[in-house]
Amino acid sequence: MTVVAGVDLGGTAVNYTLITGDEKFLIEGLCEHPARSKEGPEICLQQIEDGLRIAVEKAGLGLEDVVVVGLDTPGPASSAGVLSAKGSTNFVHKDWAGFDIRDGLAQKLNKPVTYLNDGNAGALWGHFSLFGASNQATSISAIVGTGLGGGVIVENSVVKGRGGFGGECGHVLLPYQSIANVPGLVPHCNCGRTGDLESVCSLTAIEKNYLPYFFERYPDHELARLGDIHKAAKLVRGLAENGDPMCREIFRAQAHGLGLFFDEMINTFDPDALIVGGGAIETGAGFQAWFVSEIRAGMPEQREEQAGIPIYIMPNGDTAGARGAAIEALKTGRQGGLI
Ligand SMILES: [Zn+2]
Repeated sequence: MTVVAGVDLGGTAVNYTLITGDEKFLIEGLCEHPARSKEGPEICLQQIEDGLRIAVEKAGLGLEDVVVVGLDTPGPASSAGVLSAKGSTNFVHKDWAGFDIRDGLAQKLNKPVTYLNDGNAGALWGHFSLFGASNQATSISAIVGTGLGGGVIVENSVVKGRGGFGGECGHVLLPYQSIANVPGLVPHCNCGRTGDLESVCSLTAIEKNYLPYFFERYPDHELARLGDIHKAAKLVRGLAENGDPMCREIFRAQAHGLGLFFDEMINTFDPDALIVGGGAIETGAGFQAWFVSEIRAGMPEQREEQAGIPIYIMPNGDTAGARGAAIEALKTGRQGGLI
């Protein structure tokens, strides 16, 4: 049987999936192997190959059955998969600087390899889960984690951009002054901007911007008394889900920020779907539904056809990268007549 593999290279682990020509995933849940990326390209690429062999054997196949491999990694990297010459937090070894990881893996495996950054791979998985691999749909995904990642898929093609940062929605500026119930909040982002999406909607936003702001209003809150803002930030989601008023306000403000961003995307792309994923909404269905309704509430008044564009929750957060990478590779395999 011919299949396509998806390989998600994270900071510490490589996660694998396999997809068949009729769009069925052969691996349920996580299939991980240690990444060892700190030890440089040579060891890491060998790790990727070793883990891939284990993954295909688990599915009762051999490496020769894999006709295309889709790779995704954290950035910064070019759209073709050349890692930044300045290095990055996930690729600290000096040999990674300017390394063409897509080509390196293609040579190692002697197979065609496609490349996406992890945000775009996650977005493609969300898109596929709604529309399948053969469609002409347009979707915008926002993945709310430590930072804010995402992706823009226009008529089934991932917008990678000239330098590889297309669809990295986190640093798009918003009219944050119109977010309800946070007058005087001036949200700063690590990138240097004030009031971009990541500065109002991410775990970093909670730690850097919301908690210092809300602790002035709620000086006796249990998180203020904790005395460790980094730890406190991670507790906000759970407390919000349990109805804590301050933490609900923080999540409401994040949702409204996301609403402003989605409104900009609606006016730019007229998409078929808006998709939200990431750790922030790895919660019960009730909280997810509330969050989505608050995203909607944060949007300015829209024309009827704009207000009807659906907002979805992205499924299976943990495997999103590998699955998105596999879908990109499946498209390439089909174009090349390989599958
Ligand atoms: Zn920013």
